[in-house]
Amino acid sequence: MSRIFIAICISLVSLGAHAGTVLIEDVRIFNGVDEKLMSGNILVVDDLIAEVSSDPIAAPEGATVIDGKNRILTPGFIDLHVHLNLQMPAQLMREHGTAAGARSVEMAKFYLDNGFTTIRDAGGTHPDLARAFNSGDLYGPRVFPSGATVSQTAGHGDFRMPHEANPLHAHTSPLLAGDFSILADGVDAHLIAVRENLKNGATQIKIMGGGGVMSDYDPIHSLQPSPAEIRAAVQAASDWGTYVLAHAYTAEAITRLVENGVKSIEHGLLIDDDAARLVKEKGAVISTQLYIFRQLLGGEYMTDFQKEKAAQVQAGQENLIDLIKKYDITTGFSTDFIFGEYAALPLEFTERAIFWSNAEVLNQATAQGGEIIRMAGKLNRHGRFGEVREGWVADLLIHESEILEDLSGLGDPEANLALIMKAGEIIKVKL
Ligand SMILES: [Zn+2]
Repeated sequence: MSRIFIAICISLVSLGAHAGTVLIEDVRIFNGVDEKLMSGNILVVDDLIAEVSSDPIAAPEGATVIDGKNRILTPGFIDLHVHLNLQMPAQLMREHGTAAGARSVEMAKFYLDNGFTTIRDAGGTHPDLARAFNSGDLYGPRVFPSGATVSQTAGHGDFRMPHEANPLHAHTSPLLAGDFSILADGVDAHLIAVRENLKNGATQIKIMGGGGVMSDYDPIHSLQPSPAEIRAAVQAASDWGTYVLAHAYTAEAITRLVENGVKSIEHGLLIDDDAARLVKEKGAVISTQLYIFRQLLGGEYMTDFQKEKAAQVQAGQENLIDLIKKYDITTGFSTDFIFGEYAALPLEFTERAIFWSNAEVLNQATAQGGEIIRMAGKLNRHGRFGEVREGWVADLLIHESEILEDLSGLGDPEANLALIMKAGEIIKVKL
């Protein structure tokens, strides 16, 4: 299919009639996987990479030619754990989704300006907002929405005030109904919650699979939900050809989730050796975040209970990283910023560089992220991205700084990013 498409594109190029043709010359290419850079040239036709070559490529008539000046080119970045709709100040967490949506526009702009061409929303954002970004009506990365998180009563998605009744029995709080979570107890309720999200346009499903830091009622050790409920969510998702990602910290929670079909563990900090081996055996992944947990410890908005829980999970971070390395578990790159604190986004790169080589961190933020996003199967309507390969989507960045030697250059995207291209469209060029 893609080969046919490339053939069509190339024949259009030879006619010299293609408006969306860009030739990028003289770049050192990090393809998303190989540490060794390839000096070469890239031809982009419409939204796809049509040719990658170390030999010169003749500029098709009418093509835009960009001289890369021997700078480093990488795929666009991918963040696997974003909450577009949770960027209000902490004290306004229960504001209406309309206001939260407006704030998300700022966040999305920041992300694309930092070279992030794709994000996976890990719950709480209505898929309609993703459509507005994906259609180009709003400026930002492409968005893979999970819809509302699915949480049991008292689980990590239960953000009711203490006096609020369960919405299944009484009134419905806006945070639960339209935005962050759907409370679901029982197999049938899980089937309904997942199918509602799929109906709205979710590309994957997020469940709350164990105790969380920012929620008020659930200790970290709590197991959420029951195996039968997890299997129901996984069944409803896999019937649509997609997968379930689950919030979880402890080895017990991770084991239960993965044994019952969950494919992407979010956070995972209190994992142990057996659970890590099981994750690998089951072909699941662990999408974890480094920077946010240190930041949470200092969060002024945290209650004592929340701070205690943050300290508890943070203690497991180095062990988790050791196990990810030991079992070669795919992890991608993700951040989980909430309450508008995403300006720290570049610090996730440098934080990771303490534990992995710069090339490995870039691999996480590109090829590994793409691999995880593609678990959405046929619900991914955006093709293959995350690597510089012929036939893949042309999400490309050119960097002024030598990022394979020092990732801190990413902290100043205004100076560092000489080119941002998303699906063949030039978002920014400064060469
Ligand atoms: Zn999250």
